[in-house]
Amino acid sequence: MGLYLVQTDSIKDIHLLISHTHWDHVSGFPFFAPLYDPIYRIYIWAPIGFDKTIRDLFVEMLVHSLFPVKLEEIKAQLIFKNIYEGIPFQISSFKIDTHYVLHPGVTLYFKITCAKNTFGYATDNECLMNYHGKPQAITSSHSLLQEYLSLISFFKGRNFLVHEAQHTPSEYQPKVGWGHSSVANASILVKHTDTSH
Ligand SMILES: [Zn+2]
Repeated sequence: MGLYLVQTDSIKDIHLLISHTHWDHVSGFPFFAPLYDPIYRIYIWAPIGFDKTIRDLFVEMLVHSLFPVKLEEIKAQLIFKNIYEGIPFQISSFKIDTHYVLHPGVTLYFKITCAKNTFGYATDNECLMNYHGKPQAITSSHSLLQEYLSLISFFKGRNFLVHEAQHTPSEYQPKVGWGHSSVANASILVKHTDTSH
C-alpha cells in the first residue's frame, strides 16, 4: 500500500486506523514508504491503551536498538489521534464507529459508513469464548449470545463484514483466552449481524 501511494502520487493525506497495537498490527509501520517524504500528512488513529499514549508506543517501537530511524526523524507529518470507543468520528465522507471486543488489551472493531453503505472490519475478537459446539445450536435467544448482543447490534444491517476466524475448531481448544475466534464461532457472529435474509 505504501509503495502504491508513493507511485501514484495523488493522495497526500493518509489515515491509518489501528484497532490495537499488538505487533502483528503495527510491525509494518516503519516500512510504510510515505513516512519518508515530507509531502505526506499521516493521521494515526488508535484507542487509548492502559498505560501509554499511542505516540509513546510508536516512539518505543522505533528505538535505535530495534530500528535505525527514530520517530522524530520521520519526514512525513505525523498526527496522533485518540479514538474513544462509542464516539464516532469523521474522515472526509466516511463516518467511523468503534466497539470494544474480547481480546487481550484495548482492542476495537471498526464500522465505516459512507452514504448508506456500511462496512465492518473486525480483526481480533474471541467470539463465544470457550464454546466448542455447533454454530447452529446458538439461536438468538441462547444464553451464551447475550454478552455479544451489543456487538451484534453494532454490526446489524452492515453491507459487508470482514471478520477474523483464526482457528479451526480443533486448533481453538488449546488457545481459549488468546483472543481469537474459531471459524465456527466467528460464523455465529457473522450470521446474527446479517439482515439480508
Ligand atoms: Zn492482537
